[in-house]
This record gives sequence, structure tokens and C-alpha cells, in this order.
Amino acid sequence: MENIILTGDRPTGKLHLGHYVGSLKERVKMQNDANYKDMYLMIADSQALTDNFSNPNKVRDNIIEVALDYLSVGIDPNKVTIFIQSQVSALTELTFYYMNLVTVSRLKRNPTVKSEINLRGFNNSIPAGFFTYPISQAADITAFKANIVPVGEDQLPMIEQTKEIVHTFNNIYDEVLVMPHAVLPSNKVCFRLPGTDGKNKMSKSLGNCIYLSDDSDTLKKKVMSMYTDPNHIRVDDPGKIEGNVVFTYLDAFCEDEHFEKFMPEYKNLEQLKAHYQKGGVGDIKIKKFLYNILDSILEPIRIKRHEYEGKIGYVYEILKKGSKKASDTANETLNEVKNAMRINYFIDKDFINKYSYKE
Ligand code: ATP
Ligand code: MG
Repeated sequence: MENIILTGDRPTGKLHLGHYVGSLKERVKMQNDANYKDMYLMIADSQALTDNFSNPNKVRDNIIEVALDYLSVGIDPNKVTIFIQSQVSALTELTFYYMNLVTVSRLKRNPTVKSEINLRGFNNSIPAGFFTYPISQAADITAFKANIVPVGEDQLPMIEQTKEIVHTFNNIYDEVLVMPHAVLPSNKVCFRLPGTDGKNKMSKSLGNCIYLSDDSDTLKKKVMSMYTDPNHIRVDDPGKIEGNVVFTYLDAFCEDEHFEKFMPEYKNLEQLKAHYQKGGVGDIKIKKFLYNILDSILEPIRIKRHEYEGKIGYVYEILKKGSKKASDTANETLNEVKNAMRINYFIDKDFINKYSYKE
């Protein structure tokens, strides 16, 4: 089987380091790998509206921002179809048909939806659209017959839900839909990168992000005010690594070559960790090291972003063309789905022969 990839991001803000290690880096690798035939990259504006419906301008303004983030990390629009979810109407239609295959109690049990409902304080006034967004995610994935979905850990329950829908659909109707598989980052610490405040996930909605487009000064401020070990007061005090966000980030971003470049007195992260735990390494020192690493990763991304900002008409064309191509593909799947569901009245030969007007 040929590998087809679908992933996406909500245009609720600019993309951050969690996106980078959780999914974007993997996508850039995959686009250059001959084992993958097609990649679709979706800007999930319809999904973003399920909890931002009263703030449409926020979603609208972030469409181009997310596209710029994609291009600046190295997504190649000649290899990848970048599109906008709302412009592919087949996705909405598929969602409607899949709704029959899912129970309300199953949706209530989805742990990601549960925690996002709490986070947003919806209590008993959950918008129906938000409650059912795992179903629309199943439509997004299956419309492109994607079998590979690179995501962060928080999305695993969504892929489970999609698998159930695929299974049920293929069982009841016909073997039309392809079973997807989630692909998590290769480095475990990147499954769910914490926020700069130590909260368990860096997330646009929590305001604890380092954005890919942050300039050097902003980056420095954010790193310098990061959460470490509250009991590590003097340099000589032994320090804790667990729950120390600076070390979590070092686990996610640091390579041996960074020591050569920025901290030659240590060979690798293990040595630095051992010294910190024993006592004798100050928080400022490790924060400066992390800042240097992150700045060296973000600098080429900033430069590329700047280039694309100067040719925004080109970015607009990429989105327009990508949305048209995605629509064509999704319409093909929608037709197969409608055939399988027996709702293809005006293109079905049997139906036409039986009922159409004859001389
Ligand atoms: P929002 O707060 O609006 O939900 P978000 O920051 O959670 O935004 P999404 O657009 O929901 O970002 O997520 C897009 C993709 O990035 C998903 O695959 C998700 O798993 C991944 N991702 C988001 N945040 C992180 C993180 N902190 N660590 C690892 N992966 C992440
Ligand atoms: Mg999210």
C-alpha cells in the first residue's frame, strides 16, 4: 500500500516549539522520504471555530500565520498539499454521515475532549460542534485515505475514534475507508512538550508557548523566566532534573554538537545533568545554554519566515491551489462513500434505469 499522510493544525495562533518537536519536524523528514507518496497538510479552521465561533477574526488572521510557519520550518509546497479545511466541503458532508456511526456516550468518554472541555470551562454548555469534532477529524483523515497521521500524544484518542469509525463504516457498507495509524515523535520527551510554566502541555490556549516566530529578545526573556527546581537556590545546592522544564527542553532539543559550540566544558547532557544534580551548576548557566540552542534552531526559521512574508501573494496562491487539489481528492472519496451508502441516486445505473424518464 502507498503511504499517504494527513496532519493539521488549528489556526488559533502561531505555531510553537511543541508543534515543532511533536509533529512539524517529522513532517519535514517524511516529505523527503520516498516511502511516502502524498502528504496533505490541513489548516483546521472549521475545527478551530468549534471553540472560537464567537471570534472568527482570530481564526481568519491565523490562516496565513500558520501557512508561514509551515513554509519557514521547511515544508515544501511542491511536495506537500497545504489546504484550508473549510474550503473542502466534502469534509463537512462526510462528518455528517459518520455521525451516525458514533454514540454520544463514546464521545463523552474521549479523554482529550474531556480535558479540553474542562480547560475551556464549558461545563454544561458544550457547543455540539466542539463535542463532535473527533468525528470531523475522522472525516479529514479518511477523505484523503491517509494511513499515516503524525501527531503529538494528545491526539491519540482522536486516531482511536477514527479507527472505530473506519471499522464500523467498512463493516456496514463497503471496504472504502483506509485504517489510519498515528506516528509519534521518535524522542519520547517530544510526545507532549510542557509549557514554559511547567504545565503539562505547551498550548496556544494556555499562553505558555515559545513561538517559532519569537525574536531573540523574546526568546531570551521566556527562557530566563522558565520554571526550574524551586529548591535549587544557591549554585552549590544539589538540583533536581525531574519536573525541571529547562532539562526537559534540553532533552528535547540538545545534541552533542551543542556542547562543543556553546558549553565545551561538558561533553554531553549526561555529564551536565550529573553535575547539576550533585550541585555546582547555576540555573542562569543552564538557561543561557538552552537559549543558545533554541536561538540557533529558530534563527534559520525566522529568516525563512521573513522571506515568505515578503512574498505573501505566493503564500496565498499555495493555499488556493492546495485547497482546490484537496477538494478534488476529497470529492472522489465522498463519491465512493455515497455509493457504498446507497445514496448515489443520479449517477447509479440501476436507479437511473429503473426510474428515469423514458420515451
Ligand atoms: P490549541 O490550544 O488551539 O488546541 P495547540 O497548541 O494544542 O492549540 P493544535 O493545533 O491543537 O495546537 O495541535 C496541532 C498538532 O501539534 C497536534 O498533532 C498536536 O498533538 C501537536 N502538539 C500541540 N502541542 C504539542 C506539544 N506541546 N507537544 C507535542 N505535540 C504538540
Ligand atoms: Mg490542541
